Order: sequence, then structure tokens, then C-alpha cells
Amino acid sequence: MALVVQKYGGSSVSDARSIKRVAKRIAEAKRAGNDVVVVVSAMGDTTDELLELAEEISPRPPQREMDILLTAGERISMSLLAMAIDKLGVKAKSFTGQQAGLLTDAVHGKARIVDVVPHRIRQTLSKGQVAIVAGFQGVSTSNDVTTLGRGGSDTTAVALAAGLDADVCEIYTDVDGIFSADPRIVTGARKIDRVTYEEMLELAASGAKVLALRAVEYARRYDVPVHVRSSFSGKTGTLVTGTHGDAIDPNASTGDQEEAMEDPIISGVAHDSSEAKITVVGVPDTLGQAARIFEVVAGAGANIDMIVQNVSVAATGLTDISFTLPHGDVRSTVAALNAVKSELKFDELEIDEEIGKVSLVGAGMKSHPGISARLFGALRDAGINIEMISTSEIRISVVTRADNLDDAVRAIHSAFGLDSSEGEAVVYAGTGR
Ligand code: ADP
Ligand code: ASP
Ligand code: MG
Repeated sequence: MALVVQKYGGSSVSDARSIKRVAKRIAEAKRAGNDVVVVVSAMGDTTDELLELAEEISPRPPQREMDILLTAGERISMSLLAMAIDKLGVKAKSFTGQQAGLLTDAVHGKARIVDVVPHRIRQTLSKGQVAIVAGFQGVSTSNDVTTLGRGGSDTTAVALAAGLDADVCEIYTDVDGIFSADPRIVTGARKIDRVTYEEMLELAASGAKVLALRAVEYARRYDVPVHVRSSFSGKTGTLVTGTHGDAIDPNASTGDQEEAMEDPIISGVAHDSSEAKITVVGVPDTLGQAARIFEVVAGAGANIDMIVQNVSVAATGLTDISFTLPHGDVRSTVAALNAVKSELKFDELEIDEEIGKVSLVGAGMKSHPGISARLFGALRDAGINIEMISTSEIRISVVTRADNLDDAVRAIHSAFGLDSSEGEAVVYAGTGR
């Protein structure tokens, strides 16, 4: 008998009909002889709607109250799902994150899991019942309800799978697995059968929201095999594990799968439109300036992604420093930098909310020259200007105008021969929000 953790995302439980459909799937897994633990997200776009509602009440609500509000979304779906399963003649019980033993630190809005103590889940399983757990939430050491950050139900699922020593963590979503690019943008994206934790970490960090970054980090640390698949089809999805993936070699002739398996280069193209760019204009190019600027930025709690410092103008000795950060961190960062404007002696701050980032990810890139040139050439041919560049061993990222982003993804995807010959990738549901 296997112990399976299944996670159903918001688009898989968006209305009563979907909840009944998912309940059937869960009942089947149970009747097939498995112990089943289910993690569920809020219905459809509920979390976004709750955020908008709070914004109407207050632009800066107390974070503790915000967390209590947002966890309500998952509590609605967990109880409805338990009712739907019960109606099918299978016993099921739903639990909040707190009841399920998800203990976190006290950082509201992006709490980190510090321990998983799933006594009640084990008890439920030992009685032969299905345990349903509200995703994306826990309880802090000071006994306050916390949330784990957007997409956090994936993290709940992986953490429970690790804590219960499950055989597999299945992430059910609205596409058939992890593709070489977002199927909402590239209809010819191909499904990847296997991908390593490292490659998925880079994809997720670069914006491929099909799997939350922290869930991948957690899976890698505890070696949890993750199977990303659709709740709308019976197809096998993508396996994320520690072993070698089957990334696509753009140099392999079509059909030469053997070669592609041995020599993986590219896993996919990811995009991210959740960041903005701040440029500190006219900074004196003297020792320690960058250190001071980024101390102030860190103090504002911002997560910096890319940084570019221009060559200083010889006549003035002034330079510009640009960096990207999540939209949500712009306000506090601008306020913090302006507060030290006279100390840092810069001229002004330029804020650009209209940027997009596209990244090419693949473990084999480091040993293959010419990848950057091919990527930049593809953007040139598509008439897309590059504003910033950053690289890691297995990733190249560039910043473009936000309204060029989709075209940039498609241009790079084609330039690396990633387009599938097996027809269009299916997007079953969801609004892509
Ligand atoms: P859920 O509600 O199930 O958590 P999400 O919306 O968080 O679903 O994630 C699934 C979505 O991720 C897909 O609908 C797709 O648009 C998007 N996505 C982005 N990049 C990829 C990729 N490389 N492969 C598959 N899906 C991707
Ligand atoms: N409902 C939360 C969100 O929309 C968590 C999740 O779905 O994973 O971010
Ligand atoms: Mg998700």
C-alpha cells in the first residue's frame, strides 16, 4: 500500500462541479488501496479576490489580519471537498494548516515552515480515512495563523509528503505537466517527462509558476519525488527528482532521442512579469556606494534579482545603478532610498513597472558555447531590445519591455528548437492569473 499526497490547485476546484470531479479522483485513489492525503488550494481566483477586497478596506492592512483573511479561501475548499468525498461513500476529514501540524516562523505573508508534526493526519489515515489539508497556511510559534506566500499550497504538499514519508507527492493542475515554456504563451511547448530539482529550481525562480520555488527547494532537501500532472486528464505528467532530466538538445536531429537523453542542454524558457526596475541615477562612483545602497534596500525587506551598474561618466564621476525587484517591494524600497538621498548623493530614482524577464534554463548550457549569442540573435531578429542581462551556470535571463515579453518567449523557444511536433499543449482551465 502506498502513501500518496495529492495537491489540487485553485483551477482544479474552481466550482462545485470541479470539486465533485476531484472528489471522484481522490475516492478512486483511496479505493485502489492507497493512504491518501489531499492538500487543496482556494477555489479559482479566490485569493486574488480576497486581496482586492482587503485593498478596498485599507491599502496597508495589518499583516496578521491579512493572513487570517487569506487562509479562509483554503478553508472553504477543504470543507467542501471533504463533503464531496463523504457523499461518494469514502470517509474524509478536513484540517486547517494549524490542525495538520504545519509550524512556521512568524513572518506573516511569507512564513517559512519550521516543523511538520502531522499527528492528526496520521490518526486519520490509521482509521482508513482520507485527510484533507488546507494549503498555504500554518501556525507560528507565537500561535498566530500564517500564510506561506503565493503558490504556497505546493509547499504544504511537499512538506507533508516529507513529514509523512510519502511515496510520492502529486501536484494536480490545469496543464499536463511541466512544459518547455508556459503553454498559455507557446502553444507548441513540449511536455518534459523528467526534470531535476536543480533545473526546476531555476525554472521556478525564473517565473515558471507551475511549481512554487519553495516547494522545489523543500523537495530537493528532503528528496521528495514530485509528479506534476493534470487533474483534467489521466496522462502521466512530469517527474521532478534528483536524477537526470530529459532536457532537450537543440543540436540533436529530430527523432534522435537517445542523443538528447545523453546530452541535455535546455530544459525550457521561463518568463516573469512580476518585477519592476528601479534605477538610482547619478550616484557618485566612490568606494562603498553599492554596499550602502543595497544595505538600505535589504533593510526595506526587498528581494533583489538582477543588478546592473553602468560605467561612470568620466567628466562627472557619476554612475547609474539599476536593479529589479518584485512589484510589491517597490513602494517600501523607494521610500527607504529617498530617506537617505542626501547621504548617498544621488540625483533621482527612476521607477519602471513595465518590464518583463525571460530566461533560458538548462543544465547542459555551461559546456556549450554560443548559447547566449543564439538567444540574443533570436531577440534581435524579433526586433526586441534587451535592457539587462544576467547569467548563472545553467540560466541566461534578459529584461525586455513588458509588452514584448510573450514574443520574446516564443522567439527564444523556436530559436532553440523546442517547438513540439506532437500538436498543441492543452490548457484545461484557469485564468492564468
Ligand atoms: P494551480 O492553480 O494548479 O496551482 P498555477 O496557475 O499556479 O496552477 O500553475 C499552473 C500554470 O502554470 C499553468 O496553467 C501555466 O499557465 C503556468 N506555467 C508557467 N510556466 C509553465 C511551464 N513551464 N509548464 C507548465 N505550466 C507553466
Ligand atoms: N491560494 C494561494 C494562492 O493563490 C495558495 C495556492 O494556491 O497555492 O497563492
Ligand atoms: Mg500554483
